[in-house]
Amino acid sequence: HYRHPELNDQIEKVLDSLKITDDQLEQIMHLLEEEMNAGLSPLTHHQAIVKMFPTYVRNIPNGTEIGQVLALDLGGTNFRVLLIDLRGNSRIELTSKIFLIPQSVMIGDGKRLFRHLAECLHEFMQKERILNTGVCYPIGFTFSFPCQQEGLASARLTAWTKGFDCSGVVNEDVVKLLQDAIDEKRINAKCVALINDTVGTLMACAYKDPSTAIGLILGTGTNACYIENLDKVGTWKGDYNEPKQVIINMEWGAFGDNGRLNLIRTKYDEEVDLSSMNPGKQIFEKMISGMYMGEIVRLIILDLLQQELLFLGHRDTYGDYKTPLYNRGGFYTKFVSTVEIDEGIQFSNTRRVLEDIGIRNPTYDDCAIVRHICRQVSKRAAKLAAAGLAVLINRIGKSNITVGVDGSLYRYHPRFKHNMERCMETLINKSIQFKLTLSDDGSGKGAAMVACLADDSL
Ligand code: ADP
Repeated sequence: HYRHPELNDQIEKVLDSLKITDDQLEQIMHLLEEEMNAGLSPLTHHQAIVKMFPTYVRNIPNGTEIGQVLALDLGGTNFRVLLIDLRGNSRIELTSKIFLIPQSVMIGDGKRLFRHLAECLHEFMQKERILNTGVCYPIGFTFSFPCQQEGLASARLTAWTKGFDCSGVVNEDVVKLLQDAIDEKRINAKCVALINDTVGTLMACAYKDPSTAIGLILGTGTNACYIENLDKVGTWKGDYNEPKQVIINMEWGAFGDNGRLNLIRTKYDEEVDLSSMNPGKQIFEKMISGMYMGEIVRLIILDLLQQELLFLGHRDTYGDYKTPLYNRGGFYTKFVSTVEIDEGIQFSNTRRVLEDIGIRNPTYDDCAIVRHICRQVSKRAAKLAAAGLAVLINRIGKSNITVGVDGSLYRYHPRFKHNMERCMETLINKSIQFKLTLSDDGSGKGAAMVACLADDSL
């Protein structure tokens, strides 16, 4: 499919390392299930790679919940504050504001981070005229980093991920750090629940669809949660009352941190990992999520360029190393989506993206190769996420299972959902009907629902 057909074989040779066979996928599913059982067992939890944290969220909303609740959402690109009015009858009213977390705060002192969150909350409540009203508002805090929970409103951070690295927070109770900052500013609000964004996504989807049993994030990072029977959760420390279930926050991004995904890792994956803020960690996440996908594509493009298989014209004419292509992070993950929107042979989007990274006048073959790279990288990511979901769906085993999904990669990539579904059909037991549903604004709404279910005063 290139104008210079001899390129076919050479390009394929480079991209072969990205292919995952069906056999390998089954092997990966088997490995993941082993890691899951290790995370759920009290004997092995401590050393386990996939942590399988019990969340203390056991009740799933049914749409009748009523109350006015605040939600804070920290865990990725933006920090959001939301005021959510649950009206019953599956109706929700919502106002929200996005605040930026400056890079210096993301990697600075932990106290400063939480003070910053409290200041944003203060500003938002002032604008909404709910400050100092005599009402103490319950807060659901979506904090999307791995935490060991000891209750719904008590959670110790185990490690920062996704580019955050604030001092004095690891091993501390995040709810307490937040509440101290809120109290210091005398704000009339109390954090009653901490949840992960996957849990929020599951909850918000369940509010509308009672078959929902899984929450999935495909954004800056990737992670999943699901409803597990208490008798399978050896690490459970709470009571055994009805409902005998709890949502498990898998923290599946860490799958592979003990080398078990090496069978499918490429030199590009290794390079992405080594130049990241957390080398050796979040290996599965680094092969899938938005924070890394564009970088994988960039490294492959550079490799092909160095092998003189790509942009030969560009090299002759410009030959400089100042274009974004040569800089870490110079190829955004959203470019992968843009390139893949091109269907035919015009390559209008691909040309635009290439211009953005400093490549002018690419040839037809250049464009076709870049699109091919993007397709292979995003398809591999979709297959890996699909294999993870297939493990959960086969394990849950109900005849109808809905997966609530959130995150920009899933939302905006033109084929991610389709590629996942096609792969899942081959891996999931034929007796099970599954559905992937976009969970709109799940991390905010879900936190409000958990807070509402948790707060006795409402
Ligand atoms: P977060 O996960 O941080 O809460 P998002 O769900 O918006 O937030 O995910 C942000 C990630 O999504 C970034 O890594 C970004 O590269 C990626 N992203 C943003 N836009 C797109 C797009 N159009 N296609 C694919 N990925 C995208």
